[in-house]
Amino acid sequence: MKKPNVVILGAGYGGLMTTVRLQELVGINEASITLVNKNDYHYETTWLHEASAGTLHHDRVRYPISDVIDRNKVKFVKDTVVKIVPDEKKVLMKNGELTYDYLVIALGFESETFGIKGLKEYAFSISNVNAARQIREHIEYQFATYNTEEEKRDERLTIVVGGAGFTGIEFLGELVNRVPELCREYDIDPHKVRIICVEAAPTALPGFDPELVEYAVNQLERKGVEFKIGTAIKECTPEGIIVAKGDDIEEIKAGTVVWAAGVRGSHVIDESGFEAMRGRIKVDPFLRVPGHEDIFVVGDCSLVINEETNRPYPPTAQIAMQEGELCAKNLAVLIRQQGELQPFRPDIKGTVCSLGEDDAIGVVFGKKIWGTKASFMKKMIDNRALYLIGGPSLVMKKGKFKFF
Ligand code: FAD
Ligand code: NAD
Repeated sequence: MKKPNVVILGAGYGGLMTTVRLQELVGINEASITLVNKNDYHYETTWLHEASAGTLHHDRVRYPISDVIDRNKVKFVKDTVVKIVPDEKKVLMKNGELTYDYLVIALGFESETFGIKGLKEYAFSISNVNAARQIREHIEYQFATYNTEEEKRDERLTIVVGGAGFTGIEFLGELVNRVPELCREYDIDPHKVRIICVEAAPTALPGFDPELVEYAVNQLERKGVEFKIGTAIKECTPEGIIVAKGDDIEEIKAGTVVWAAGVRGSHVIDESGFEAMRGRIKVDPFLRVPGHEDIFVVGDCSLVINEETNRPYPPTAQIAMQEGELCAKNLAVLIRQQGELQPFRPDIKGTVCSLGEDDAIGVVFGKKIWGTKASFMKKMIDNRALYLIGGPSLVMKKGKFKFF
């Protein structure tokens, strides 16, 4: 009998977890497994705010995919997926094409700009290693240039962060630690620097525990962040942004604008004609595309409804990894034609949001934590993600051990 051909698209948390679990579950003779990713490395997306601010080198947040896959069982293809053709069971890539018996879509997230004018052209987004490196270098360039100009332009030293969701807040936490270093390095008076966070909702971190939100905002304000709450970014220009609070319109001149105010699933989902909401496919209980039982979706391209709230679960690494685990198990059932498919039941352990090197807030197993305790927990969560995919050797290589 012909071995089924499993193709996994994307080596983020969801795709890589599916791959490493599947290589454990099935033998060489049971299936051909191919993993496609646009880079030959995996990056810890959940650490990208650190690489973007420059508090952690971008090489610390990535590792070669070959470190964790079993080359005897998994063929790795470095290419960019352009389109999926479900009716022909085909994946079109920039440099070739693949056919599949079973497909796993794990192409992750992209920045969502909601059609706001100028954002794509003039704002940065924390979305991958290349983008993070560009943000870090752009901020450094602004600081390095400031003192070279005859007529000093203070707005060069203004950094605007759009959105006070978890990404925006975590990035601000790193920035407030990085800016004093940059001021020392480039002989800049720290009072000339402005870090402004613009949030459209009536509070930062909408929906999170209000007491912890207050703690986070106070800590960041104390370190120099100016919050503009209930204020929406309406446009981004080469000079900065235009915001609106009710009927009041204001222009904020800034040398750097980082848009951290929304994500969507991969554009490949739309290109391929799947029914989706902002690149996220509402999957069946087994994580498959309705009407396409040979296609699984994990991670940020999948949409799972929380039955308690009747709202989608937020796209998180926590869920992507759990989906990857289950997807591998379900694929093994199909490959062996033995056993029953299991439905996805997320096990949400909590949320911890970093506020920089030694501070954080979080709710873990229903308990509120903040300060160094939460920061310790955040690093343990980061190390656990490494452990789940690459075992103790990956933790030793890439783990975070500087706790206080
Ligand atoms: P991704 O991690 O986005 O991986 C997708 C992979 O597919 C990447 O390797 C990419 O290179 C590859 N790829 C994309 N397009 C193509 C293509 N066309 N062809 C080939 N390859 C492609 N969640 C948490 O649970 N906890 C956190 O603390 C947390 N912190 C975060 C911090 C930041 C700064 C950000 C931005 C997000 C954070 N998240 C966190 C959310 C979390 O990172 C995402 O939910 C998670 O990365 C989704 O995993 P994924 O596997 O779906 O996709
Ligand atoms: P998000 O959608 O969660 O937050 C975006 C924020 O931007 C919201 O507060 C929204 O009100 C605001 N916003 C939207 N439009 C705006 C506008 N025009 N002007 C100003 N503000 C505007 O996005 P995110 O923070 O990037 O998070 C994406 C996903 O990743 C979420 O599921 C989140 O839970 C997850 N994440 C988790 C962690 C963590 O667990 N520590 C960290 C980062 C991200």
